[in-house]
Amino acid sequence: MRFIADMMLGRLARWLRLYGYDTLYGVEDDDEILRIARDEGRVILTRDATLSERARRLGLEVILLGSNSFEEQIEELKSFGVEFRELFPANARCPKCNGPIKPVSKEEIRNKVPESVYRKYDEFYVCENCGQIYWPGRQWEEMLKIDRKLRGEQ
Ligand SMILES: [Zn+2]
Repeated sequence: MRFIADMMLGRLARWLRLYGYDTLYGVEDDDEILRIARDEGRVILTRDATLSERARRLGLEVILLGSNSFEEQIEELKSFGVEFRELFPANARCPKCNGPIKPVSKEEIRNKVPESVYRKYDEFYVCENCGQIYWPGRQWEEMLKIDRKLRGEQ
């Protein structure tokens, strides 16, 4: 399932990317959202009933979310059959740009991360699109906690 999320769903879009879902975000114009959804076969995620209704009339797939909270939005998506598997860096897409993420050797990122990070970690990933480097640091640990909560493991 590939998505396009409206401007009210920034946090949800970032998390969908982390869970490996190809999710476009940042398109402001409704006509443009509808066009992209049609051309690329994406499911529209929106909190806007008007946009949802327009999409339905055009025969496009749309999920109208009722909640403002991203935790509840995840629950709503589950009820529409969207599956959330444990977060795993190699399966994730870049939360910033939606690009694919691949593992890289330490050598490749040597001068691109702070020295302390380079010494402390052995596992690194890079976004093939924007070049952002990721490693399983404290931020990742925090995300795993949220991940377990979202998937009902604690
Ligand atoms: Zn990126």
